[in-house]
Amino acid sequence: MRINIVPLVSIFVFITVLSACKSSKEYYSWQSDVLYPESGEFEEINDEGFYEIPVKENFQTSATRYWDLLHTRLDIAFDMEQEHVLGEAELTLTPYFYTQDDLTLDAKGMDIHALKVNSKDVEFTYDGQQLYIELASAVTKGQNITVLVDYTAKPSELEMNTASDAIEDDRGLYFINARGEDPNKPIQIWTQGEPESNSVWFPTIDKPNERCTQEVFVTVEDQFVTLSNGLLIGSTDHGDGTRTDYWKQDLPHAPYLFMLAIGDYAVVKDTWKDIDVHYFVEHEYEDNARGIFKNTPEMLSFFSEVLNYDFPWDKYHQVTVRDFVSGAMENTSAVIFGDFVQQTAREQLDMDFEDIVSHELFHHWFGDLVTCESWANIPLNESFATYGEVMWREYKYGIDDSDFKRLDDRRSYFNEAEGKQVDLIRYDHDLPGDMFDRHSYEKGGAVLHMLRKEVGDEAFYTALNKYLVDNAYTDVEIHELRIAFEEVTGRDFMPFFNQWFFASGHPMIEYTVQHSIDSNGENFTTVSFTQTASSEESLLYSLDIPYALYFEGTDDYELKSFRLDDYSDTLRLSGHRDIIIDPQGDLLVEWDEYTAFNPNLVPMYMDQAQSAPWAYSRFKAFNKLYLNIYDDDSLSMFYAVGLQDPFHKNRLNALKAMNESLGYIAEFDADASSLFSSEVLGMVQDLATKDSNYAVQAEALRVLVAVDANAHRDFLAQALSSPSIAVTAEAMMAMVDVDLQTALRYAEREQSTQNFTMLDAVGMIYAQSGAVKYQDYFENYVNGENGEYQTYYAMYYYSKLLAALDRDAVLRGVDFFAYYLNNVEGEYVSNVALGGLDRLATGLNQRVSNGEIIDWIPEIEDRITAVKEAYFGYDE
Ligand SMILES: [Zn+2]
Repeated sequence: MRINIVPLVSIFVFITVLSACKSSKEYYSWQSDVLYPESGEFEEINDEGFYEIPVKENFQTSATRYWDLLHTRLDIAFDMEQEHVLGEAELTLTPYFYTQDDLTLDAKGMDIHALKVNSKDVEFTYDGQQLYIELASAVTKGQNITVLVDYTAKPSELEMNTASDAIEDDRGLYFINARGEDPNKPIQIWTQGEPESNSVWFPTIDKPNERCTQEVFVTVEDQFVTLSNGLLIGSTDHGDGTRTDYWKQDLPHAPYLFMLAIGDYAVVKDTWKDIDVHYFVEHEYEDNARGIFKNTPEMLSFFSEVLNYDFPWDKYHQVTVRDFVSGAMENTSAVIFGDFVQQTAREQLDMDFEDIVSHELFHHWFGDLVTCESWANIPLNESFATYGEVMWREYKYGIDDSDFKRLDDRRSYFNEAEGKQVDLIRYDHDLPGDMFDRHSYEKGGAVLHMLRKEVGDEAFYTALNKYLVDNAYTDVEIHELRIAFEEVTGRDFMPFFNQWFFASGHPMIEYTVQHSIDSNGENFTTVSFTQTASSEESLLYSLDIPYALYFEGTDDYELKSFRLDDYSDTLRLSGHRDIIIDPQGDLLVEWDEYTAFNPNLVPMYMDQAQSAPWAYSRFKAFNKLYLNIYDDDSLSMFYAVGLQDPFHKNRLNALKAMNESLGYIAEFDADASSLFSSEVLGMVQDLATKDSNYAVQAEALRVLVAVDANAHRDFLAQALSSPSIAVTAEAMMAMVDVDLQTALRYAEREQSTQNFTMLDAVGMIYAQSGAVKYQDYFENYVNGENGEYQTYYAMYYYSKLLAALDRDAVLRGVDFFAYYLNNVEGEYVSNVALGGLDRLATGLNQRVSNGEIIDWIPEIEDRITAVKEAYFGYDE
């Protein structure tokens, strides 16, 4: 599963920082899972000399396997009016080991009409969550039973109880616009099984350590296409406007990976080797389906080759759905994506969702072929899928690109770690959904990268192949990964797994680089490291710290590493020109570099920012310089180095630094035009028009506008016709102050572009115009079918526009907000509407403060008060 990180300013998203939960601890001795500390270093050594670790309360074992579910056959139809699933399930099972005389199945919120075992009625009880079935006689291992359940599933009536950060809902199956009442929304049905929600729409043993083969017969109206796991074997036309599609998967997989998606889709067809690769998108995105699921066939080749294990499933289809409850889900051979991935080719010039495509595909080895046995082991799915994104980028876009992706991943873990540090493998989680966090994804991905660096690429991929081959079509726990690495390398990985998978936190390392001259007049350098742990439950870390040495007269670096396995240690070197610690950001470490003793700071970092071979090293050096350069000459050179960097994210970083400096200048009303040398400004002008990356072009325009918008009018005019939405929108907004009529002309041209960045620009320009004619645009926009963010921004700018209009227009606007407040559903509505009314009142009063005489303000204020009172209902 991939969590949807909406790439917008998340006004409504208040990130709740969970505080680290310390439960009361019992202690007992357990040698196997902790590093043995040196005597006296930890207080918690008991009388027997064992290090004591807390017994986790609420220990979440994997589910005990009484039965082995072998096969599931489903016959599914729908009552669209009632939003019911009319199902018949036939399950084939055999005892896992011990003889069984009863059977428990998961089946949530269903009506059970009939239940037969081996074609005979049996006694059963049902509590709304599970079916308890008494067998007529005991069954021994090797004997199969067939359970037939005739049921109605009612997912829309189910109370949500286990939603989490990753999955917003747990109803299993979703009817979208089932009765066709919303003309702006397609009719769809889709499912989301992970973690244990598929038992809402069919009875099963809903645990990740179960797996079975599958057949699905699904009856739908003719206008819809269907998608499920495995192959489409055939369709039966019933001659009454309905049809039954028959999907079959002969390879076993876990129940949470079962899926269905039904809707009116354009199906765009690719192939890879001899398997079908189809893209299901809404019709208007048909032309860009290959762009949306970018590079899928090439990814199939890459992952198959790097793992030396061919994609193991029957086909690979991807489908978009409306109102999805997560980002995307790796259902075996039939991946579901939220509709946010549906972009036009023009939108994709600025950004794409390729990481999600690679993430879900990589799950087909790590998650679907080899499945975690319990949610405590979910990093075996999610850490790999996250690292699959990194591997793909490294292959496709180069090492700098993947290094920066890992930087983003580390930041997202460190951000979560400020409020929450838990073991990566967590047997004490509360709900399965709690496991889908930045630890299981990004921290785990970073840990896998460190494992790769520890063993080398050849051993890493050999061990991954062994892990897949040894565990194919079975469930795993983390030790099976460790054992694969041990068998391939001959090395004991308990210490590594203990410090990274079974402990919380990460190392924090301070270091000081000191250049000195010895008694013989030779230059030498000492690097002193001191480590502390971020969490009291972390251990003393043992790490190979990579460093790069740079020698006089050459631009080549030599890569080495230094083993730090104590609280502090010192590395002493000579004969080199420069040293960079962790030059590619390989380690999950919070570094703190002391620079106070380094008199060569500026030349050293200038050297690194200019000529280090890794973009990440240049990035780090640039940011150090930003904090340490004060004289004008060095500053010009510093910006020039950043702007000329071959890697686009470093150019972007330099431009952002310039914009930040301009922001400070603006605060003091100082003259921005003299801040940068003409040489540096010339470089920015080049980037604004010619850079290969549109984010760089847009950021460069921002610099030019902040320096002097009028003087850069020609650049703005050129940018207005950029193919990139980001660049065009930036230029349009800047044009407002230079030439409002031109800005308005472009806003009118672009107002139908369905894109958030463009909406933001159009709204801002119309609001600034103060023209009453744009009232219609905002009201129509809000009444149309747009997302919550989009609606929020439209309302935001509408209230800004209203504040500049006359009495009649303002009254109409207040009535519109009131109608919206009282008649539109959604939790965000009151926020949007009440905020708009407040902004309008503030804007009108501002006009009065500016000297305008407006005698109708009290009337408006009374009207706003009345709207609020009616809404809150407190006018007793
Ligand atoms: Zn995932």
